[in-house]
Amino acid sequence: MWTDAAGEAIGLRSVPSGLAYRVNSAPANAPVIEELAVELVRVLERFARDSGFTQKNPASIQFGKGTIGHHQVGRATDIYGVGGIGLDKWKARWDARRDGRSNLGWRLYKALQVYGRWAQPYGYPIQLFGPWTREEGPWKFISDRLLAAHSDHIHVAK
Ligand SMILES: [Zn+2]
Repeated sequence: MWTDAAGEAIGLRSVPSGLAYRVNSAPANAPVIEELAVELVRVLERFARDSGFTQKNPASIQFGKGTIGHHQVGRATDIYGVGGIGLDKWKARWDARRDGRSNLGWRLYKALQVYGRWAQPYGYPIQLFGPWTREEGPWKFISDRLLAAHSDHIHVAK
């Protein structure tokens, strides 16, 4: 499940822009499997519309290029920014004043958590990690090391 050789290089594509959101282009927006791209389109579109973005005023989403584990076979991707601001900065704002629904970083994390269906390999937690994981879940027992490794991006895998 972790090393799905059959999925390697078959049908990989960058995550496309939607109607209410726009993504950065390759190479940072690294190719992923169709299943992951489709899931992200669905959740990002919902996040963007729920947050008040439109086709005329779309949300920008910045992907980064992960290198290890699921990333090598296109089963994972990392999101580093939303609305032109890095997730580390959104988290710092959150820690300073709990700005809730106006905090796009937190909203994106919650949308990915509530609406997304992510991989859960046997014996591992659901593959959604980011700056809010310890507070919001789904894996609140995340180690200090893993939390620190995801302090500036959200990782999802399918
Ligand atoms: Zn990652």
